[in-house]
Amino acid sequence: MPTKIALVGIGKIAVDQHVPALAASPDFTLAATISRKGEVAGVPSFTDFHAFLEACPDVPVVSLCLPPVPRFDYAEAALLAGRHVMLEKPPGATLAEVHELQALAASRGLTLYATWHSRMARAVAAAKAWLADKAVHEAHITWREDVRKWHPGQDWVFEPGGMGVFDPGINALSILTEILPQPVHLTEATLEVPANRQTPIAAQLRFTGHVTADFDWRQTGPQTWDITVETDRGPMALRMGGNVLEIAGKPVAGDADIMGEYPALYARMADLLRTRASDVDLAPMVHVADALSLGRRQTVAAFDF
Ligand code: NAP
Repeated sequence: MPTKIALVGIGKIAVDQHVPALAASPDFTLAATISRKGEVAGVPSFTDFHAFLEACPDVPVVSLCLPPVPRFDYAEAALLAGRHVMLEKPPGATLAEVHELQALAASRGLTLYATWHSRMARAVAAAKAWLADKAVHEAHITWREDVRKWHPGQDWVFEPGGMGVFDPGINALSILTEILPQPVHLTEATLEVPANRQTPIAAQLRFTGHVTADFDWRQTGPQTWDITVETDRGPMALRMGGNVLEIAGKPVAGDADIMGEYPALYARMADLLRTRASDVDLAPMVHVADALSLGRRQTVAAFDF
């Protein structure tokens, strides 16, 4: 029998990815939604999370698709009510709050899954396997996309805790921290913050190990989500957000046309539930916190949607 699951925060990513992934999932059935405005046709809906917890003791899993700042209160309430929890990325607004959730889940024997959807892109596992026995000489991330396309009107991304361009940039860092055979740490960052906003619209990062990153949210036209790596045995590139692997310039694995990231996240959640385990890797968020801590701020042109 599929496990009943509730989705919280019916907005862009819930509608684009979570609802279709759950509709196709052999492991889960969407039993409730909790959102102040959003709904999913044919699914019982609640506007208040505590009302849901009281009314639906038979729904053991909740998946939180709302922005990072409001997420902690929902995650904590769910765990206190004995529910397993799946978190959209970034897993929280601060590292400390996610540590708290980890401890709470562990103390209650519940599953907490901090998802990183980009790690499920089709060529990430192949890139990790290829790099495993190589010496990395340098690596560069280019993550340039159009904030108006992917976050239309979402002012929360420019508010404290919204992380600005690190909202997509953390996807690149989730891949980097998955595939590199050796860990790196941030040494320098420049943060380009619009004059009327609180968070960066672009950032340039430098890490140990000759690893650099260029994040920019002002790219119109074709979007760029590339990671290139130079090794002792030649170059490797992950393109299309981790969906295509190139070795020495030739595509060898992946598929840019089939997006399987969210179905893979729900399959992983089902595995974690079966094995009564949690999966919370905060490495990508540590790099973002370090960049926001160490970064040199430059004020750039005001930004409005
Ligand atoms: P969104 O559409 O702005 O927000 C999702 C929903 O969360 C909203 O529709 C809203 O639903 C609820 N919500 C917003 N602020 C809230 C608050 N203060 N308190 C309670 N509920 C609130 O955002 P999104 O693009 O779906 O992103 C949500 C998360 O998914 C983020 O962490 C983001 O990084 C991640 N994500 C987004 C994308 C993307 O392409 N946009 C891709 C991958 C992952 P109600 O108003 O109905 O309550």
